[in-house]
Amino acid sequence: MAIKSDIIVHRVDALVAGAGGAGLRAALEAGKQVDTAVITQVFPTRSHTVSAQGGIGASLGNVEQDSWHYHMFDTVKGSDWLGDQDAIEFMCREAPSVVIELEHMGLPFSRMDDGRIYQRAFGGHTSKYGTAAVHRSCAAADRTGHAMLHTLFEECLRCGVKFYNEYYMLQLITNQGHVCGALCWDMIKGGFHLFHAKATLFATGGYARVFTTTSNAHICSGDGASLALRAGLAVQDMEFLQFHPTGILGAGNLITEGVRGEGGFLLNALGQRFMETCAPHEKDLACRDVVSRGIAEELRGGRGCGPKKDHVLLQIHHIGAETIMERLPGIWELTKVFAGVDCTKEPIPVVPTAHYSMGGIPTNRRAEVVVPGADGPETVVPGFYAAGEAACASVHGANRLGTNSLLDLMVFGREGGRRMAQYAQQNETWPDLPENAGKQGLAEVERLVNGGGGVRLGPLMEQLRDDMERHCGVFRTADDLEQLRGKLAAHRAAYAKVGVADKGAAYNLDLIEALELGHMLDVCQAICQGALARQESRGGHYRDDYPQRDDANWHKHTLALLEPDGQARLEYKPVRMQPLSVPTIDLAERKY
Ligand SMILES: Cc1cc2nc3c(=O)[nH]c(=O)nc-3n(C[C@H](O)[C@H](O)[C@H](O)COP(=O)(O)OP(=O)(O)OC[C@H]3O[C@@H](n4cnc5c(N)ncnc54)[C@H](O)[C@@H]3O)c2cc1C
Repeated sequence: MAIKSDIIVHRVDALVAGAGGAGLRAALEAGKQVDTAVITQVFPTRSHTVSAQGGIGASLGNVEQDSWHYHMFDTVKGSDWLGDQDAIEFMCREAPSVVIELEHMGLPFSRMDDGRIYQRAFGGHTSKYGTAAVHRSCAAADRTGHAMLHTLFEECLRCGVKFYNEYYMLQLITNQGHVCGALCWDMIKGGFHLFHAKATLFATGGYARVFTTTSNAHICSGDGASLALRAGLAVQDMEFLQFHPTGILGAGNLITEGVRGEGGFLLNALGQRFMETCAPHEKDLACRDVVSRGIAEELRGGRGCGPKKDHVLLQIHHIGAETIMERLPGIWELTKVFAGVDCTKEPIPVVPTAHYSMGGIPTNRRAEVVVPGADGPETVVPGFYAAGEAACASVHGANRLGTNSLLDLMVFGREGGRRMAQYAQQNETWPDLPENAGKQGLAEVERLVNGGGGVRLGPLMEQLRDDMERHCGVFRTADDLEQLRGKLAAHRAAYAKVGVADKGAAYNLDLIEALELGHMLDVCQAICQGALARQESRGGHYRDDYPQRDDANWHKHTLALLEPDGQARLEYKPVRMQPLSVPTIDLAERKY
């Protein structure tokens, strides 16, 4: 079946792109009030949120005394002071309410003996402003994301949200500064669909798949950020990528920090608990950037384990098989399948793995997308919202705390849904579509299917990810990043000659892969140039040639825009240091 260029138009009040935790939470909120549609590349419950293991952070205080003030402090400190403090206060204050809401929807949280929600310790979460570790992560065993997606999907169906599953978004449609929907490709049958919406929310997830070793699913190719860039909008802080310390050697799959929260620890080849030296206070439960660098230093120093000295060991068997099977059953299964290790008996070989995208589409705390414009660097784009890993609110700044992503999805997903419904109700008519609406996305598909200058897709994708890993990983230098910039230009030139082998319309996964590669190139450009320009080390961005944090010059957010030649143009904007109701948490040295 050949590709047809007709476009079917649908009209909805609110359009949500993405059906992970953020998209479903937004759709649920909007769907209670206005006509809402969700478009999603994969079936909703297969979204990447399904893999979230360790839990959602909220200061319920079920195990010991806790407060949102402590949670806020930990989040600001964890962000290496790059997080916006109004958004962080908002998120931490709302946390208990979104968790209780999920409980009332029926999410099967693990329970304590007295019936209250079970909470576990996680890296960087403390009570009394860094005094002692606190149990703050509300968990459904080690399958919290799975439970969350199923709960939210059922609720969305109950309130009549329309789902367009396996629809791939190709283009964000804008007209004179207003967002008015998106063009999609029906992956099952083929064919173009334009969703004309009063309000559109991107919840398309992150971009950590641009690295070879990653905990992320195939779909995490940064499509949302790329489509925003192509529509002339800015993306924020893309150079901040989180490397999670404990990915399974050779596979990259994640071993949740919950393992260390339950008492696990890291060992080098000499049998030393090296985190006791790297972070004397928090040790194995220091923030992820700190632990990842700790591991990378052990490997650089020749103290790695195994014949290749290429990993360290994560030990958990000392807590006993019964506890492991009750609290970490998924981890037992993962390590058995992907590492060939029974973690109730032996340690797990681990390395840092690309895990989470702190950068994304800039929003304010109302989940409204903001870009430089007439009202300054935070001018609201009418009709456009973003939430979850696709967005940059910015609550995670330079480094995200574990459990704060699921929280971000619930708080800003709900907020985005509310705001979309309000906006749609306030605007009776739909914004006009531009002339030739969707033609750019359509042309891209036609070029890939009909073109073909001899460059093969698979090897180019592999090379791009390898180059990102080699030149832009846990440690970065100007030299490396300059080399990467040259390679990216060559990859972009090669991409212009990519054609897909499958010319059909139905289930053309070759085409989807090619489209994703285009998105990854945009995202990599913004990461590389942002990282090259930022001559300091902060959170997940560590420059070997600039090892110190430099607040005088770099306490600011990076904004990247895409130039027609594929290069990024960088601008900067201040960090919002003023919380909503409490005093600013002043800049300080970050020690664990
Ligand atoms: C192994 C693992 C464990 C984790 N554990 C935790 C944890 O315990 N606690 C925590 O807080 N965080 C955790 N995280 C992080 C957290 O799971 C993610 O950050 C979060 O789930 C992202 O959710 P999201 O809704 O933003 O996007 P996703 O769940 O990634 O969903 C993205 C959606 O966008 C859609 N999409 C993407 N591109 C397109 C396109 N072009 N067209 C149409 N649709 C598109 C997809 O179909 C999908 O529905 C973990 C991450 C991993 C990898």
